[in-house]
Amino acid sequence: MISLSAKPVVEKRRADLQGKTTRLRATLGRAPHLSVILIGDDPASQVYVGRKANAATKVGFTSETIRFPETVPSETVLKRVRELNADPRVDGILIQRPLPSQLKEKDVALWVDPSKDVDCLHPENIGLLVTGNPRFIPCTPGGILLLLDHYGIQIEGRTVCVVGRSAIVGKPLASLLLSRNASLIQLHRRTPDPASLCKLADLVFVAAGSRGLIKGDWLKPGSVVVDVGIHRDTSGRITGDVDTDSILGIPHALSPVPGGVGPMTIQVLLENTFAAASREG
Ligand code: ADP
Repeated sequence: MISLSAKPVVEKRRADLQGKTTRLRATLGRAPHLSVILIGDDPASQVYVGRKANAATKVGFTSETIRFPETVPSETVLKRVRELNADPRVDGILIQRPLPSQLKEKDVALWVDPSKDVDCLHPENIGLLVTGNPRFIPCTPGGILLLLDHYGIQIEGRTVCVVGRSAIVGKPLASLLLSRNASLIQLHRRTPDPASLCKLADLVFVAAGSRGLIKGDWLKPGSVVVDVGIHRDTSGRITGDVDTDSILGIPHALSPVPGGVGPMTIQVLLENTFAAASREG
């Protein structure tokens, strides 16, 4: 079974981006800048935000992490986002999810100026994506496509199955796969008999947030499986939405967790921030 590791893809694309950033810094007279908002102290969110800031600095961007307590009033965060929207030195703004309950996703999605929305969550950017004229590529789905392209896995004409329909992964991924001429099956919590539908697919993308959901009997032999899940068990081991023991010998390729989709997501975030900064210049 081939492991679709992000490492060679990220190494190559980071080196390219670093070079392009050096040139852009000369043109702009400043570095591309990413502002990250982190609310509360969810340990996983802290780790992800740390990785994003680190990766940004490594390619030559500047970045800042703006922290708020879990109980922060919605208006306080909105005020800060408006300042960032108006600041010409800020190219990309990201509000780390999950949000505390007083912040409503449907409101927050409208806060970040669409031209700085490097997470691609603003309805305007989702609309541009769905109509085939994207301004930004959503980070996780975009990273998945870069991974498949690197390993020469064909999408056009294949039957694909997306497990999950979240706004951040499942829905935009489905849209990108359709735009690459795949035929789509999409599963969600209410799908009756999901295993038999999944088994029809040449390529399977799992973003259900359910540890070990995908077992061997969900997969067609020789398929390609991309695992978006991240779960940490009590011993600290990180696993995904695929039950790796039960699928042994069935798929042709599988993206590892960790080291697959996660680093690719960060790569697209950097590339989106670079694109936003380039448009400024
Ligand atoms: P993520 O952030 O990884 O996209 P979410 O928790 O936001 O995950 O969304 C989970 C998605 O997975 C939902 O769309 C839900 O319908 C889907 N899902 C959850 N459990 C199953 C299941 N057993 N079979 C198919 N889809 C599922």
